[in-house]
Amino acid sequence: MYNYVIVGAGFAGAVMAERIANELNEKVLVIEKRNHIGGNAFDCYDDQGVLIHQYGPHIFHTRNKDVWDYLSQFTEWYLYHHEVLGVLDGNRVPIPFNLNTLHTVFPPSLAGKLEEKLISSFGYNVKVPILKLRETDDDDLQFLADYIYEKIFLHYTVKQWGVKPEDLDPAVTGRVPVYISRDNRYFQDRYQGMPKKGYTKLFENLFANKNIHVMLNTDYHDVLTFNSENGSTELFGQPFNGKLIYSGKVDELFNYEFGELPYRSLRFEFESLQQNEYQAVGTVNYPNDYDFTRITEFKHLTGQDVANTTIVKEFPQSYEKDVPGKDIPYYPIQNDDNQEKYSLYKNKAKQFDNLILLGRLAEYRYYDMDAVVAMALKVFRDKVNK
Ligand code: FAD
Ligand code: UDP
Repeated sequence: MYNYVIVGAGFAGAVMAERIANELNEKVLVIEKRNHIGGNAFDCYDDQGVLIHQYGPHIFHTRNKDVWDYLSQFTEWYLYHHEVLGVLDGNRVPIPFNLNTLHTVFPPSLAGKLEEKLISSFGYNVKVPILKLRETDDDDLQFLADYIYEKIFLHYTVKQWGVKPEDLDPAVTGRVPVYISRDNRYFQDRYQGMPKKGYTKLFENLFANKNIHVMLNTDYHDVLTFNSENGSTELFGQPFNGKLIYSGKVDELFNYEFGELPYRSLRFEFESLQQNEYQAVGTVNYPNDYDFTRITEFKHLTGQDVANTTIVKEFPQSYEKDVPGKDIPYYPIQNDDNQEKYSLYKNKAKQFDNLILLGRLAEYRYYDMDAVVAMALKVFRDKVNK
C-alpha cells in the first residue's frame, strides 16, 4: 500500500513527506513515537495561554532563499531578529561578543585600542571564531582573546557539553564567533522570522496532503522491522519493498552494532510569571553563573501579545537512552572520535538502496532547521525523484 515510509515527524520527515505526496502524488506513511508532530521544533500553548517551545527555543534563520521560499508556501512569518545578552560580572552585554560589547566591558581608551587592532588584523564586519582569535601573536589581542574565552566560552561550554571548547569540533564554538561589527543580532542571515501561527501549524500544513498518513504514539519498532544485515524490511508484518526514510538515531537502527553514539541532553524548567515582561530580549545567557546556560522569554520570539509571560531555563545533562528524563538526544557531540564511529554506520547504510538517512539524529550532525530543510529538498531531488 505504501511505497514510502518515513520514521520521524520533525523537519526531515515532514519536508520529505510533503514532497513525496505533493510532487510525486504517492502515498506515504510517517511513523512518530511522540504524541505530536514537529520533532524538536514542536510548539504549543501552555496553561497560561503563552505559546512555548516544548523542546527549547527555536529561532528560524537562513541564507538560503530556496528554503525560505519553500517554507513560505506553508506559513506566513512574524519578522523577528534574535538578540541575546550575556551576563558578565553582573552586567548584561551583547552576545556574540562584538564592538558594542567591547566598549561596554572595557574603559574607552583600552576599548578604542583593541577595536583598532581587531580591525587592522581582521577587517571590519568580519567574524572570528574564538579559537582562531586565541592563536593571535599580538599581546593586546591575546589579552582580549583570553578575556572572551574565559568570560563567555569556557564555563558555558563546560556546562553545555561537559568538556572545554578545544575538545569539541571548532565549528561548535564557531557558531557564535567574535563579530567585528556594531550589529547586536545573534544571526546575520538574510531571512529571519518565526512562523506566524507557530511551528506546529507549519507542520500541519506540511502534512496536509491526504496522501500522508501520520501515525503518532508509535515507535517504529512496533510496526516496522529493518534487518541490518541484508536491508530487508517488514511493515505490519508484510515485506516492504519501498523506500525507508529514517530520521531517528542511526545507532538505534543498526542495533548499536558499532557502539552508542554519544549525545548531550537537556532538562527544561518552564516558569509562568504574572508580569508583562521578565527580560529585555529573547534570550539571556549565563556563561558563568548558575547551572543553567540561558533563559529564554518566549513572547519576545513570537511577538505574542499577552499580559503574562513564560520563560524557560536550560539545564544541560548527560544523555542516557534508558533513563526517563535524560533520554532525549538533543545534541550530537561533534568531535573526531564520534565522527569516526558515525562513519561506520554511514558506510553500512550505504549498502542499502532502499534506505535514506536524513536529519540531525540519522546523520549525527549539529544541523539547524534550515539546513535540515535544505538537505531534505536535495535528497528528494537526488535520491527520490530521479
Ligand atoms: P527531530 O526534530 O529531532 O525529529 C526527529 C523525530 O524522530 C522526533 O520527533 C522523534 O520523536 C522521532 N523518532 C526518533 N526515534 C523514533 C522511533 N524509534 N520511532 C518513531 N519516531 C522516532 N535550529 C534552528 O534552526 N534554530 C534554533 O533556534 C534552534 N534551536 C534549538 C534549540 C534546541 C534546544 C535544540 C535541541 C535544537 C535546536 N535547533 C534549532 C535544531 C532543530 O531542533 C533541528 O535542526 C531540527 O529539529 C531537526 O529536525 P529533524 O527532523 O532532523 O529531527
Ligand atoms: N557558546 C558559549 N557561550 C555563549 C554562547 C555560545 O560558550 O554565550 C558556545 C557553546 O559551546 C555553545 C556553542 O557556542 O554550545 C553554540 O552556541 P549556540 O547558541 O549556537 O547553541 P544552540 O543554540 O545550538 O544551543
